[in-house]
Amino acid sequence: MEVAKTIESVRGLVKAARSEGKKIGLVPTMGALHIGHISLIETAVKKCDFVVVSIFVNPTQFGPGEDFEKYPRPLEADLEICEKAGVDVVFAPTPEQMYPSENITWVNVEKLTETLCGRSRPGHFRGVTTVCAKLFNIVAPDVAFFGQKDAQQAIVIKRMVADLNMPLEIVVCPTVREPNGLAVSSRNKYLTKEQKQDAAYIYKSLQKCQEMIKAGTKDAGAIISEMKKVLNQVPSIEIEYVSIVDARNLQSIDRIAGKILAAVAVRIGPARLIDNIIVDTREQ
Ligand code: AMP
Repeated sequence: MEVAKTIESVRGLVKAARSEGKKIGLVPTMGALHIGHISLIETAVKKCDFVVVSIFVNPTQFGPGEDFEKYPRPLEADLEICEKAGVDVVFAPTPEQMYPSENITWVNVEKLTETLCGRSRPGHFRGVTTVCAKLFNIVAPDVAFFGQKDAQQAIVIKRMVADLNMPLEIVVCPTVREPNGLAVSSRNKYLTKEQKQDAAYIYKSLQKCQEMIKAGTKDAGAIISEMKKVLNQVPSIEIEYVSIVDARNLQSIDRIAGKILAAVAVRIGPARLIDNIIVDTREQ
């Protein structure tokens, strides 16, 4: 496995692989790798001949007062995980490599970024789409892999790729969970053992939603109120939002129909945690 710290070196390695006719896969991450990331990498290794994992804590997607400085950066452990998983190249640039001067060119996906996490994290998705556009230009992958865990991010990236005719495929991989249902996340490191147990109620609230839809409930407001009841059983949970939206355009819906996304964002102690499920009522 190679570790590329510069744009020039990763480009050189990918160019050589492409000249051998290899299919290039990219897994963009911010590091602090866990089993969620590993499942993306394993999918990439299966589907592609040459896999690049980028590890970059992207400053432009963090707002003021967010956890950019304290975000974990265990590079040595990450490299070991990548090596074991069969990664060909880890691209781990410095912020100066990625942003050599003040960034004044942005990629902004409208509408889809104005709901859910976009409301409380202004500028976040603009940072995500801009850094992904840069990574796609640098690595030029045939396929890039994202997690369902960040459902809005995956939908926004897919739309950017479609709207800007970027020549790659986006594959979205299922959310990997702890045995108690908690979606695995680098930010779970901020939680105590008790807070991790409390955080299991996030998925419980999503299961409640699924059960109610299965039982035939059509009133989204009634489902949201039951989901909030589940979350409110835990005093340490501070709800940011509980939403049910149309999975195609992320607009709120009153009546359950078609493919819906139920999404939750909460704060527990120092961590902001998100999770979601997609329910396709046409499959029920
Ligand atoms: P991050 O390092 O948090 O930016 O995540 C990098 C990629 O891994 C994103 O596409 C995430 O959606 C994905 N990811 C993070 N956690 C999980 C998880 N528990 N299951 C599946 N994918 C995940």
